Amino acid sequence: MRLGDRSESENVEDDRGSGPRAGGLVLGGGGLVLALFLMVLGVDPRQALQVVGRGQPQGQAGQQQPGGPPRQADPEEEKEAHFTKVIFGDTERIWTEEFRKAGKTYAKPTLHLYSGMVDSACGQAEAAVGPFYCPGDSKVYIDLAFYQDMQKKLNAPGDFARAYVVAHEVGHHVQKLLGYTKYVDRARASGDKVEANRASVRLELQADYLAGVWAHYGQEQYKFLDPGDIDSALNAAFEIGDDRLQKKSRGYVVPDAFTHGTSKQRMKWFKQGFDTGDVKGASKLFDLDYDAL
Ligand SMILES: [Zn+2]
Repeated sequence: MRLGDRSESENVEDDRGSGPRAGGLVLGGGGLVLALFLMVLGVDPRQALQVVGRGQPQGQAGQQQPGGPPRQADPEEEKEAHFTKVIFGDTERIWTEEFRKAGKTYAKPTLHLYSGMVDSACGQAEAAVGPFYCPGDSKVYIDLAFYQDMQKKLNAPGDFARAYVVAHEVGHHVQKLLGYTKYVDRARASGDKVEANRASVRLELQADYLAGVWAHYGQEQYKFLDPGDIDSALNAAFEIGDDRLQKKSRGYVVPDAFTHGTSKQRMKWFKQGFDTGDVKGASKLFDLDYDAL
């Protein structure tokens, strides 16, 4: 993937090394399985926090941790931070333009880099939940160590696979602005667990689709893809499908427990977003019958 001389986003809170560090999360057998599940992109923070047992949102949107001593800069990590900030800048440039074309204004989210543990408006989260978006404060939270996990534990290497992670989380922000989140809130409020999971799958696949739409316009404007980049994103989408993660963790698949979609579905919708660049087409994820997804 080519970064060119595109600028970093200015909407970044770089909180690495100054937040409370994860105090050696102890996981039993069951916990380990859960941690693996949560390692997927953008697990819903409310679910994640429930599992991690940190309780309810604390209503502390935007509250900053007091700054601790800065950690020593690791050149490799600084490269990853720069990459992430440029990609986040790309999402701002592209979504601002797409919203403008539709006569709307893109309210930019914030990228919050942290290490170990973080307080969000959605509660306190461990890095083990993976990157996530918190609708309450419109921030995308990323611990850069996740990139290493993608490469080593999830078999999803490649810089464009990382860009897809960022674009997926920003996709959750875009869907909040476009009003799709309410369908999921409604399903969750109904108390029907299967329906709530299905709504979550729709929302996650839609974030994949929107990440694809973003890649479509990024390629059109910046020619930022190298050969093999789309394959590396599709491979990441494959490796983090619910069925794949479930099989790896417990050896069988429980479709009703899916909250993100199967590998095949995740690849399909990312690809469709990339091929069409059709923002309005995102509505399909809520219009189609569940079995047609
Ligand atoms: Zn997600």
